[in-house]
Amino acid sequence: MNGKRTRIYEGKAKILYEGPEPNTVIVHFKDDATAFNAEKKAVIEGKGVLNQRISEHIFLKLNEMGLPTHFLRSLNMREQLVRSVEIIPLEIVVRNVAAGSLAKRLGLEEGTPLPRSIIECYYKNDKLGDPMVNEEHITAFGWATPMEMDDIMHMSIRINDFLSGLFLGIGIKLVDFKMEYGRYIENDMMRVVLADEISPDNCRLWDIKTQQKLDKDVFRRDLGSLTDAYQEVARRLGIIQPGEAPERAKPKLVKTDS
Ligand code: UDP
Repeated sequence: MNGKRTRIYEGKAKILYEGPEPNTVIVHFKDDATAFNAEKKAVIEGKGVLNQRISEHIFLKLNEMGLPTHFLRSLNMREQLVRSVEIIPLEIVVRNVAAGSLAKRLGLEEGTPLPRSIIECYYKNDKLGDPMVNEEHITAFGWATPMEMDDIMHMSIRINDFLSGLFLGIGIKLVDFKMEYGRYIENDMMRVVLADEISPDNCRLWDIKTQQKLDKDVFRRDLGSLTDAYQEVARRLGIIQPGEAPERAKPKLVKTDS
């Protein structure tokens, strides 16, 4: 089946295929895990399915709230149909608690609550290791316009508020997360929408009571089973029922043409 589709792009965790309708793209979530700019790699069975289902759950809720995203619908456990957008070459990180690179850079103890949420921008460029940039760089180099940056900042704050509440309700602290945005033209107007995915691959999620990590740091820091952690997030969100996982969370091979 996959062999007949036109592949547009293959990244570290996803493959993009041409969509069945104009201006659409199929996103295929792979089981590949990478960290430290792809220096550490593994294939973790079921990860793509869990990320697709968690991201679908979150993007559907954001769409319902009137926060525009590229998400149209899921096609199967591992794939979703999204609007074709031009990706803005920025990684937008929102932080609520010091961790990871921020803790290192500023000498803060991981887990220190921040005085307020902080938004950071990184230029998406693997060769340069995604350097941190500010609005001066972004607008001077034309990666996004000042108006687009206004939209991105406002949407990022709303998304952080919504996600912090969503996770708090299931006993999880949203420490930080990364987003990507895209633009497309609608009725002669350029619109900015949330793109990519929101899943434990690009969030830091800590259990509120035990501080146990339920995100990609489990893989980055060799803290145990990544699928167990992601399944726990999916279970608490009500995406998979107790007893359903892991079998039904895994992809089922229905038919192969090649
Ligand atoms: N993040 C991501 N992709 C990246 C870099 C960071 O999804 O290429 C996420 C990461 O999972 C975390 C947040 O952004 O939730 C902040 O990451 P940080 O800057 O602390 O970098 P890290 O410690 O992951 O290198």
